[in-house]
Amino acid sequence: MFDNLSDKLDKAFHVLKGHGQITEVNVAETLKEVRRALLDADVNFKTAKEFTNTVKEKALGQDVLTTLKPGQLMVKLVKDELIELMGGEAAGVDLSGSPSVILMAGLQGSGKTTFSGKLANFLKTKKTKKPLLVACDVYRPAAIDQLHVVGDQIGVEVFSDKGNSDPVAIAKAGIEHAKANGHNVVIVDTAGRLAVDEEMMNEISNIHTAITPNETLFVVDSMTGQDAVNTAKAFNDVLDFNGVILTKLDGDTRGGAALSIKSVVNKPIKFIGTGEKMDAIDVFYPSRMADRILG
Ligand code: GDP
Repeated sequence: MFDNLSDKLDKAFHVLKGHGQITEVNVAETLKEVRRALLDADVNFKTAKEFTNTVKEKALGQDVLTTLKPGQLMVKLVKDELIELMGGEAAGVDLSGSPSVILMAGLQGSGKTTFSGKLANFLKTKKTKKPLLVACDVYRPAAIDQLHVVGDQIGVEVFSDKGNSDPVAIAKAGIEHAKANGHNVVIVDTAGRLAVDEEMMNEISNIHTAITPNETLFVVDSMTGQDAVNTAKAFNDVLDFNGVILTKLDGDTRGGAALSIKSVVNKPIKFIGTGEKMDAIDVFYPSRMADRILG
């Protein structure tokens, strides 16, 4: 995960090796490499620039009274800024509703159905909740079957209505079913398309308006880098979602989406997907991710 970025940052810090103190020249040289590492990781240009400007100010600032060596100081400043960039604290999900309704949105193939299952499993085991999965992808019968397979695997009930072509009606019926059967969390899996289009946006927006979810989570494949960020922006403009789910981090050697999304849409990454299995889900902790990146 993010191996390229880790390697390149490590090389950037080597610039300061052997230097007794921080100077404008060695800071500039190091940060040039840091910026290059961020851009190679597919971090948005503006984000990378702001990042290095902030680190530069802090490194050269009067208030840096420290016994750290220049290399160590730079690692610390970069780490602090990476944490900030990824949102600072971990963000939870709102489970206060009765039931709490969680709407999943995102492109086809982003990992929505898989993640819906992972989240249901996570809530069931970690938070002793009784989730219900609701299948609202009315275009692909295979997607409904897939959710049933996932539900069977984790022992979570799936609500679907194969003959019904109205996702709003299915979502509402699913919530009623949850109320009648003691489910306290409802996870609504929706249809995605291969790219952002008006029809999909109208549909997800209609569902969103009709069911007023406690949480709307935008699911995106982290391997798509800047495209992930642009898609996040398009969905956020329509849904004003609560948080991002970054899937397929296990295959992402670059990390651009993880590092740019928060600064572009100002919404936290809440969970990450790290594999195809139902337990490959983690709460997103910016500090742990920064530790991982800096090795
Ligand atoms: P959807 O169309 O958005 O519902 O996407 P799916 O849930 O069907 O996922 C698309 C593909 O990505 C499937 O083959 C999943 O097994 C795979 N997938 C989903 N999440 C992850 C993940 O975190 N890591 C990996 N390696 N594969 C994933």
